[in-house]
Amino acid sequence: MLIRIKCAISNAYLLLGDRPVLVDTGAPGDLKRILGALKANGVEPGKLSLILLTHGHSDHAGCAAELKRRTGAQVALHVGDAELARSGQNGVLAAQDTLGRIVRPFVDEQFEAFEPDLVFRDGFSLEPHGVKGRVLATPGHTPGSSSVVLGAGEAIIGDVLRGSLLWPNKASPHFFCNDPELNTRSIIRLAREGLLRCHPGQFGSFPGSELHRFLSTASGEVFELSGEPV
Ligand SMILES: [Zn+2]
Repeated sequence: MLIRIKCAISNAYLLLGDRPVLVDTGAPGDLKRILGALKANGVEPGKLSLILLTHGHSDHAGCAAELKRRTGAQVALHVGDAELARSGQNGVLAAQDTLGRIVRPFVDEQFEAFEPDLVFRDGFSLEPHGVKGRVLATPGHTPGSSSVVLGAGEAIIGDVLRGSLLWPNKASPHFFCNDPELNTRSIIRLAREGLLRCHPGQFGSFPGSELHRFLSTASGEVFELSGEPV
């Protein structure tokens, strides 16, 4: 089961499998929200199997160091974002649009630096940690951005795309993206997974068909998975 934990400016997710896995940890001020969600779902902090980060930005890795101390769980992160974790800083936040430039000063905060316990590259399996799923490298937003693809056709996609501010079930480009071309290739990769539902790092979830709509819009023509990447 997947449970969304609404944090101040981002989403974290709790995966309840044979053992519980926490995906992302909110921003530095979100500790109470995360601990409250664990308690509300009957997860004793010491029973948490793993803390998996979709990437190393402050609104996803913000409470990782403190939660590691409180739960004893290992923190896993793609090797490409390990330096962000070690620095406690977001690094480059390349705004995609005016909205991105407006919100950047409010979201670009420092967080407690930490050394990841597990660094992975691609295809990291959650099965040894009690959840049916695997972690795919989906870089672009950051070098180490990753998505959690679950057995039920659902995926937690971090900031590859965000949900819409106004419309439920719609995807939008994220405010920030360091390498848009690479990010588009990551969206293609996710589209090929045939996902039913995507759970982003910001705002609400949307159907997997939104990945195809985004790719069609980006290329100016209907995107066919069998065709050449846009
Ligand atoms: Zn981010």
